[in-house]
Amino acid sequence: MIQVNSVRHDWSEAEIAALFELPFNDLMFQAQSVHRQFFDANAVQISTLLSIKTGACPEDCKYCPQSIHHGAELEAEKLMQVQAVLEEAQAAQAAGASRFCMGAAWKHLRAKDMPYVLQMIRGVKALGLETCMTLGMLKAEQAQELAEAGLDYYNHNLDTSEAYYGQIITTRRYQDRLDTLSHVRSAGMKVCCGGILGMGESRQDRISLLKTLACFPEHPESVPVNLLVRVAGTPLEDAPDLDPFEFIRTLAVARILMPASHLRLSAGRTDMNEQMQALCFMAGANSIFYGERLLTTENPQAEADKALFARLGLYPEEVSPDRQPTEAQLLHQIEAQQDQAFFYDAMSR
Ligand code: SF4
Repeated sequence: MIQVNSVRHDWSEAEIAALFELPFNDLMFQAQSVHRQFFDANAVQISTLLSIKTGACPEDCKYCPQSIHHGAELEAEKLMQVQAVLEEAQAAQAAGASRFCMGAAWKHLRAKDMPYVLQMIRGVKALGLETCMTLGMLKAEQAQELAEAGLDYYNHNLDTSEAYYGQIITTRRYQDRLDTLSHVRSAGMKVCCGGILGMGESRQDRISLLKTLACFPEHPESVPVNLLVRVAGTPLEDAPDLDPFEFIRTLAVARILMPASHLRLSAGRTDMNEQMQALCFMAGANSIFYGERLLTTENPQAEADKALFARLGLYPEEVSPDRQPTEAQLLHQIEAQQDQAFFYDAMSR
């Protein structure tokens, strides 16, 4: 039985498997009900992602066109100039983003790049945006430096289950990922960590991935759930289709397991029709990327998103970095609502 007035960190695989087995309508109802206890059900957090250093990555992630190990067509670019990054951040803000995510295709952050990265963080923060970076593996002291510069979130995905990880990446270990996540948390930053579905993994792998995320001492504040984009030239270009309902189920289970986290519908969204995206929001997804090339008003994807939001009655979530409630604050709010009729046991059948 889920205790809705406490966020659990001790989920068993059997409990998670039981959620996956629920009839679809029951699972969706439970996920949506949990979602409403923690969030405005119609608000969606909007992030914009900019690649600040593209391609030529020494890692061999099988899904990624930026790896030097694969034959995907991609023009590698050096680390962007700080001023150019700040201009992109301003454009993202004007387009409605509340968080600006900067990604670099690195195995790990090098000392020579740190000063530029720190300038980017300070500059984007000065605009009033939340900041997020993904720069590969971090040492403890690097995480500390980033945090001191004002970095709000660090993204480092687990990608898949520990058991399946070796089928996807061989140039670093699962434990390396966990170590970086631990450094990020110890430095006081918020964690953005999720995975990719549709890489040929089994439901058991999806269960195991969610269990790892949901059993961290603190849940990641942001959980990106990606649908594999099968890029030509990568080893996963011919990966089999994932049943869309399995993708939606995974989101719904993630919502129940990590009720206070933002669940981000990330890569692969452009391959989903509007009906599927609507079901993803119903399952508890409440964050999206506009994407790095979606910064101008003419951008068709941004326009399509606005139109979809209007049709569904969704609106962008307004978040001030200083006002975003912590897990404990959210729980306090929920305890205060316990008498209300909509408060119910999400695990009862
Ligand atoms: S570490 Fe990141 S950029 Fe590099 S290959 Fe893996 S996913 Fe791609």
